[in-house]
Amino acid sequence: MTQFDYDLFTIGAGSGGVRASRLAANYGAKVGVAEEYRVGGTCVIRGCVPKKFLVYASEYGHGFNDAKGYGWSASELSFDWTKLIENKDDEIDRLNGIYIRNLKNAGADIFQSRATLKDKHTVHLEAEGRDVTAEKILVATGGAPWTDSSIPGHDLGVTSNDAFHLEKLPKHVVVAGGGYIAIEFACIFKGLGCDVCLVYRGEDILRYFDTDVSVQVHSEMKRQGIRIVTQTKFENIEQLNDDSKRVHLTNGTHIDTNMVFWAVGRKPATGGMGLENAGVDLDKSGAVKVDEYSKSSVENIYAVGDVTDRVALTPVAIREGAAFAETCFNNNPMKMDYTFIPKAVFSQPPVGTVGYAEHEARHEFKNIDIYKTNFRAMKNMLSGSEERVLMKLVVDGDTDRVLGCHIVGDGAAEMIQCLAIAIKAGVTKKQFDETVALHPTIAEELVTMREKFTPKM
Ligand code: NDP
Repeated sequence: MTQFDYDLFTIGAGSGGVRASRLAANYGAKVGVAEEYRVGGTCVIRGCVPKKFLVYASEYGHGFNDAKGYGWSASELSFDWTKLIENKDDEIDRLNGIYIRNLKNAGADIFQSRATLKDKHTVHLEAEGRDVTAEKILVATGGAPWTDSSIPGHDLGVTSNDAFHLEKLPKHVVVAGGGYIAIEFACIFKGLGCDVCLVYRGEDILRYFDTDVSVQVHSEMKRQGIRIVTQTKFENIEQLNDDSKRVHLTNGTHIDTNMVFWAVGRKPATGGMGLENAGVDLDKSGAVKVDEYSKSSVENIYAVGDVTDRVALTPVAIREGAAFAETCFNNNPMKMDYTFIPKAVFSQPPVGTVGYAEHEARHEFKNIDIYKTNFRAMKNMLSGSEERVLMKLVVDGDTDRVLGCHIVGDGAAEMIQCLAIAIKAGVTKKQFDETVALHPTIAEELVTMREKFTPKM
């Protein structure tokens, strides 16, 4: 019999925490889970899932226009933000219920409470005013949107957390940032009919991606009428009247807007958790430092997901949670494999990418071959849309292995999920070439690229 109340106590019931807790419970551990907000975490409650609903909603904004070329007409089009949010909330409630049920069915105790550490085996449940003890503790508290508090008036802006519950859609939005959330929400707002201006401090948006991807997304966003201002930052934000704000930029200009949307990154949620009481080491960004088995600097305390600031993606947190449970509760030491993780940005059109960007591959391999194509998809011939598709393969010229694939265009995320299987398994360019095309699709272009791309001198 263990001397503790629990074999495992998990703090944070998001993707990673829930996966780890359920598996550990299935392996016979006595598990407690504390969640201060809602079971499901960022992904389900105020991240990937509700965001994707907003993406679907905004795609109809373009879809109705495109349908005209196919003979459709509608005299009265209107959009009801409140209805969308209500429907989205109903679905999120349903998913939240499923997550709670799954945890309970696995035998875990759920505590609706903020939890902090008193020492390396003691968790304080604030809502209950009591302590519980556990042999192992898993920190899975995720991250939270960060805003730049050095900017006067920064609190006049909202973050992605607020965007899911706006009372009404603003007429004009200024988005700060050039990463995933900035790009996705800029496209969402535009598709729903807002005027959008995106302000990015660097040279071009999505800078972690292949340069062709950044350039393509930038040009597609511009084509839709999203204004993108680069190489400048917010200097201060001023309230003009009830409904409008003025954003002063460091380049000396200003933009008047109805809503300022911060998307300048997320920070690991470790503040005020008492991790220092237990001796857990954090890095500069506040992330829990862990080894390859997700173990922190303290023998019995582990951490998975965004709170560790490794790869901040839901499926990665789920895998890390599963590997933790296998290692600690199934006597099956397991490490997460971070290679060839497929990624998507749900911009419009979306991005799907896996493996090396061209610049990364050129850095690591001697001979790199590039295959790429850029075309208007068949659907747009009748719709009249000028939207273009980019497809790019990065190939090791010595071994013929496909090292990376980057797509911007309709269905890019769906295509990349399937391609990631082959690319992770080591598929060669020759095997792409030997695969018969499926006609007429956008994806067929992936197996018909024959000419190596040679940059113009
Ligand atoms: P990102 O790291 O993607 O982007 C942050 C952006 O903010 C960057 O463009 C960065 O610029 C800019 N920035 C940072 N600090 C400042 C500053 N002080 N002033 C002005 N700009 C600044 O973060 P997100 O918040 O967009 O997303 C967080 C994470 O969540 C992502 O990394 C991703 O892992 C995950 N996510 C995944 C999604 C998906 O899978 N589709 C969707 C949404 C989020 P710079 O480039 O110069 O550093």
